[in-house]
Amino acid sequence: MQELKERPARRSAPPARRRHRRRRPRARAWAAAGWAVLAAASAALVAWTVAAPHPRPDASAAGTAAGPRAGARDPAVVNGRRQPPPVRVPRAATGRYAAVPGTDPPPRRRGFVVQYMVEVERGLPFAPERFAAEVHRVLNDPRGWGRGGRLRFQRVAGGPVRFRVALSSPALTDRMCRPLDTRGQVSCHARGRAVLNARRWAQGAAPYRGDVAAYREYLVNHEVGHALGRGHRGCPAPGRRAPVMVQQTLSLYGCRANPWPYPRG
Ligand SMILES: [Zn+2]
Repeated sequence: MQELKERPARRSAPPARRRHRRRRPRARAWAAAGWAVLAAASAALVAWTVAAPHPRPDASAAGTAAGPRAGARDPAVVNGRRQPPPVRVPRAATGRYAAVPGTDPPPRRRGFVVQYMVEVERGLPFAPERFAAEVHRVLNDPRGWGRGGRLRFQRVAGGPVRFRVALSSPALTDRMCRPLDTRGQVSCHARGRAVLNARRWAQGAAPYRGDVAAYREYLVNHEVGHALGRGHRGCPAPGRRAPVMVQQTLSLYGCRANPWPYPRG
């Protein structure tokens, strides 16, 4: 949708500039100048709209409108990490989950084994196996909830589980999170299910400044944190790492972005 919006705006800009260059009588020149300003303003607005879901540290509306790619970094690398390719997420898919088949074993170390399931709404533009693999990696990371061998996570495809992690379209997220109002924008934990909004999975969130890879880690850890009984936290002091249970999708409240429950491992 964002790309579709961008094209007409770019098409409308050249005629305005051509009119301006021909130096017609003063009244027309003023009109042409007005159109040029309007076109530039709308181009800036469109650039902002497009940039907003994927804000990058060096991205600004003025910079983007002034010159295509002028001084822009490779958008595929943020904070030294290669980012997932852009994906356009529909507002709604089928509304039905499918459990990701197969199993992922827990790491070979001590710790209580927690079984969980991964579900992906049918019709979403994500490969279920890759989503499940990323969730499993995050859960068993040394900085994750299993720190110190307290817990380790085993993905299963059915049966009784401690929690589910479910990738969901904005429409299904809203439905699953009720009575919480997620407005198609945010995610939640509801009734043993970490409901991850596919829009956020694709786009990240403004406080993460384009680091979608890190935001995905945050999203898994935060919502699974709720599944493990954790509640929300505040930012302890400006400049500190935000605890993972801060609602970092909305704001960092002066803290620094941090996707991990135990960032020092
Ligand atoms: Zn939360």
